[in-house]
Amino acid sequence: MSLLELRDVSYRYPESQEVSIEHVDLTVDAHALTVIVGPSGVGKSTLLNLIAGYTTPLNGQVLMNQQRVQGPSWQRGIVFQDMALYPWLTVAQNICFGPKMRGLAATTYEPLLTELLTETGLLAFQDQPVYELSGGLKQRVALARACINQPPLLMLDESFSALDNYTRNEMHQLLLNLWRRLENSIIAITHDIDEAIFLGQRILVINGKPGTVAAMLDNPYFNQDVTTGLGTDYVAFRQKLLGLIEQTN
Ligand code: ADP
Ligand code: MG
Repeated sequence: MSLLELRDVSYRYPESQEVSIEHVDLTVDAHALTVIVGPSGVGKSTLLNLIAGYTTPLNGQVLMNQQRVQGPSWQRGIVFQDMALYPWLTVAQNICFGPKMRGLAATTYEPLLTELLTETGLLAFQDQPVYELSGGLKQRVALARACINQPPLLMLDESFSALDNYTRNEMHQLLLNLWRRLENSIIAITHDIDEAIFLGQRILVINGKPGTVAAMLDNPYFNQDVTTGLGTDYVAFRQKLLGLIEQTN
């Protein structure tokens, strides 16, 4: 049974004359890792806002567990590129902000807090205010903050694009560890083809104006170290994906 389903979704911003995305279909299973890739301005963030329930489609349906998405919910967590952390709160306070606001007792989320602090390497920083941390550490806080709600669907909107290569690779590994640990589904948005190939079991390519689905690919190179050389099949796959991203329609 699918966790999330988009059926023929289109959207136009109320203040805009142009449709941003059109006829988008997508099915996401439980414990699946889907990457949405495409050039800038094709409606990737718009799509994510629709799935999150911040906006409602002009046409079509967004369904989670067969129910129509009516508005934002802790069940669909988002990590933004700019993170939107509270700089003066500590690492632990930032991470626990959501469950605290939901009125949950500390005893219900503290075991997971400790686990997330450990998994993300933030244990030693837990009482430090967030403004003191490096960009990479802040991104870890943002990820842990989204995970503490245990959302069945976690979404990342170009979350790692501002990081240096080394830190980005660390975050990729961390994300995969959390995904295995929490057994959730993840949708990660990126404009980076290599990030898409490393993180996506399936890769949804969006392009054009309005943005439409150019392809949905099963990715044989998911979670593989391509630095050791994967040969001609890999190069062909990457070229094919690049062509789909760059194609104009
Ligand atoms: P992406 O995330 O792929 O870069 P976006 O979803 O941000 O693309 O934007 C898709 C299209 O919608 C773009 O043409 C953009 O100009 C337009 N758009 C985005 N946000 C707004 C807005 N708040 N009002 C009007 N148009 C918008
Ligand atoms: Mg965007």
